[in-house]
Amino acid sequence: MDIERYGKFLIFKFEEKILLSHLRMEGKYYLAHYENSSYQKGLTYQPEEEDSKFNKHVHLVFEFTDESLLLYHDVRKFGRFYLFTYNDYLTNPRSPLVKLGHEPFNEKDGTYLYSKAQKFKKTTKELLLDQSVLVGIGNIYADEICFLAKIPPQKSAFTLTKEDCDLLVSKTQEVLNKALELGGSTVRSYHFANDASGRFQNELNVYGREGEPCYLCGTPISKTKIGGRGTHFCAHCQQELPSKKIRVIGVTGLISAGKSMVSSAFQKAGYHLVDADQIAKDCLVKGESCYQKVLETFGREILRSDGEIERSKLREIVVKDEVALTKLNSLIHPEVEAVIVEKIKDERKCFLLDVPLLFEAGLDKLCDLTIFVNTHEKVRRKRLIARGTMPLKEAAKLNSSLLEAIKKMAKVDVIIDNSLTREATDFQVKSLIEKIRQLNLISK
Ligand SMILES: [Zn+2]
Repeated sequence: MDIERYGKFLIFKFEEKILLSHLRMEGKYYLAHYENSSYQKGLTYQPEEEDSKFNKHVHLVFEFTDESLLLYHDVRKFGRFYLFTYNDYLTNPRSPLVKLGHEPFNEKDGTYLYSKAQKFKKTTKELLLDQSVLVGIGNIYADEICFLAKIPPQKSAFTLTKEDCDLLVSKTQEVLNKALELGGSTVRSYHFANDASGRFQNELNVYGREGEPCYLCGTPISKTKIGGRGTHFCAHCQQELPSKKIRVIGVTGLISAGKSMVSSAFQKAGYHLVDADQIAKDCLVKGESCYQKVLETFGREILRSDGEIERSKLREIVVKDEVALTKLNSLIHPEVEAVIVEKIKDERKCFLLDVPLLFEAGLDKLCDLTIFVNTHEKVRRKRLIARGTMPLKEAAKLNSSLLEAIKKMAKVDVIIDNSLTREATDFQVKSLIEKIRQLNLISK
């Protein structure tokens, strides 16, 4: 009998039959012997006490001619088995191997991956996870591979170059080799799944390290969701700027994420700040563009005694009423956009647009580059409370905005993570400004 591995499948090659085994979440195999077990050949065995190898979680027993046994153990019963013959295990439409992609270790370079990437409509991370492209890359490995290749996991797969794919393939081999090596050295205690993952854990660069400093640059590791899977990356090391002149930059982020710190660094570097919130405020002033329209929609009860709009009253209304909020936005956003377009007209100058609702208002279309300032939820809450601007109850509500942040992170070009020290943030902002400067010097 022979055993091979293909991706996440084990292939048992018996005399006449082929058995495919997929462990899924918790399946594992143990070796055992007749003499030191209560197992009786050919008989249904009686499960012993819980901690024995022969407990109720053993679902399959292989008996070998040399009196050894192989037990399949699976607490959650997610594992799968398929029985085929030599003639059809690679061709039968029911065989899971039919749909499988290439084995990464057989790839000499990125040619095959590149051909798949060009037709792939999702992100690089999803490309790596897709078992019909390459087999055997799990969620943890995919994050580590992207990090080592210095490619953002959210990058659209079809934009990958042949060189990117060469790098991804070689890093895939590197990561899988390391995992196999570590797993291989712990064979005797392999059934203690925690031991094995514990050892591999020590080697991880990004996975499971949200908020901790990147080993290469000190930037806190970011976490987002891609294709429903938790995804970790370094916003600095895995950053990619569009290859064009960058004159207008849009910056956004949740309340108290540290947007102002980023804006002031850009201003010091010579950028002209365009503050969308201020523009929105200005056009609500009596006699300005939005004043009359807002008054007609929301009535005179939003007015102060001096005839100016009381912004807090307006906010009270729209906070509770989704329809009213949409209505207000539809009045204000076009005005704000018109003012911004006018302000950024001068082609010689560079601008930084500070827009809380950059994507919601569709203002990202005016930008050559978009930045999202991210801060770890816990840190943000602490800062808000320390500032005294928000009661605890309000701060707790911020959780819902986390989802919003994740969505934005998938859309932006650059993420700046402001969860750790001031120095770590400064470093990211300064090196970004320098990168943009270099890019603008060479682009025509
Ligand atoms: Zn880094």
